[in-house]
Amino acid sequence: MIEAVIGLEVHIELGTKTKMFCRCENRFGAKANTLTCPVCLGLPGALPRPNLEAVERVVRLALAVGAEVAPVLEFDRKHYFYPDLPKGYQISQSRTVLARGGAIQVGLRQIGLHHLHLEEDAGKLAHLGGRASVDLNRAGVPLVEIVSLPEMRSGAEARAFLEEIRLLAEHLAVAEVRMEEGVLRADLNVSVRQVGDPRLNPRTEVKNMNSFRALERAVAYEVARQSQALERGESLAQETRGWDDQAGQTYPQRRKETADDYRYLPEPDLPSYPVSAAWVADIASCLPPGPADLRQRFFAHGLSAETVAVILESRARSQLFEQTAALGADPVVVGQWIVGDLARVERESGESLADRAYAAADLADLIQRVATGSLAGPGAKRALELSYRDRRSVSAVVAEEGLSAISDEGALDPLIDQVLAAHPGAVQDLLAGQEKALGFLLGQLMRKSRSVDPKVAAKRIRERAQACNTGF
Ligand code: ZN
Ligand code: MN
Repeated sequence: MIEAVIGLEVHIELGTKTKMFCRCENRFGAKANTLTCPVCLGLPGALPRPNLEAVERVVRLALAVGAEVAPVLEFDRKHYFYPDLPKGYQISQSRTVLARGGAIQVGLRQIGLHHLHLEEDAGKLAHLGGRASVDLNRAGVPLVEIVSLPEMRSGAEARAFLEEIRLLAEHLAVAEVRMEEGVLRADLNVSVRQVGDPRLNPRTEVKNMNSFRALERAVAYEVARQSQALERGESLAQETRGWDDQAGQTYPQRRKETADDYRYLPEPDLPSYPVSAAWVADIASCLPPGPADLRQRFFAHGLSAETVAVILESRARSQLFEQTAALGADPVVVGQWIVGDLARVERESGESLADRAYAAADLADLIQRVATGSLAGPGAKRALELSYRDRRSVSAVVAEEGLSAISDEGALDPLIDQVLAAHPGAVQDLLAGQEKALGFLLGQLMRKSRSVDPKVAAKRIRERAQACNTGF
């Protein structure tokens, strides 16, 4: 029996306002080479200054995964010669990393971490019309690199580990992970061996995987490729491979460099900074809850696994859920609104909940009105949409738009009578005991008025149909 041995090196671009060693803006999507300065362009004589906000974000992440934060902050140079790396080296950490150890719970298993360190990103090459050009807006953007132990055993587990890291980054406000912008990238290390063999075979490293699905597929491909090679009696080489998503295959790129090839040396332009235990303790004391804690709390409220997964996708949703439930709304109902209509309104309005900051008091008010019958069906959905989009309170929207449920018989009866008169066939069917006809008539009524309370209306349709019948 062959087993896979998988480790990940995960890079996340930190969501700081500015870059790691200069005060250039850290922003995706600006015009090429407009967010640069002598420091991030690597011009002679320019000196780096570290970004405290970046350090703090990594410390938050380290504390959340139970890693031990180093008492000093030190940087090293890691040399490459790439056209998107203007200095010819990356400022990274090697002798002393910011945090060591820790673990991430994935399903029932704990996946251990080797360490977390801080470094800077490189620029980006673009190949357009046979020409190569470079954009240095990303050069110097702060990165945290999270290095796992080789403790994962399947593509599904590697994927779940990476998804949990995405949630950690979201809930600890380390970064807003937009996969399509390359904010989260994983280097996959994979080898295979006979189960029970303590030795490791040479591994391949697949660089820069930026989709969960691709990661899972790349593991499957490599495990099959390496297992077949072993079965044929071939020896495996340590190498770096690329991923071709279209073909669903990895392909050889280069034989792997060893650490010596990077010519690590202490960064002479930066001193060693003390990281005080008191400062770390301060950060620990106001650490927001991580995804594992929240997941447990949400399950304790009786939410389904699917609902929990959708709420956990965003910190704003998780906070809205907990705040609304704390106001006394039924947690299961709150969950239904958040994953159903609220998620839809977020999508349709183009404004995420994080930007909109929708008030828990409004969602609680809406749920309360539905529970008491003063708001119903489409009227309730409309109240949510309008209050979200127009930044109005639910009570204002309900009053100003006349969305209150019509449950008053005096107001309902004339509408019902119009519907019954227009559809005599359906009335006959209903009287003959065909319940489908009731749904049809109710639907016609809702088309006349969006704010009909469906429960009251259904009962009243039966009564009026009977009354018309005896009247014939
Ligand atoms: Zn700069
Ligand atoms: Mn790195």
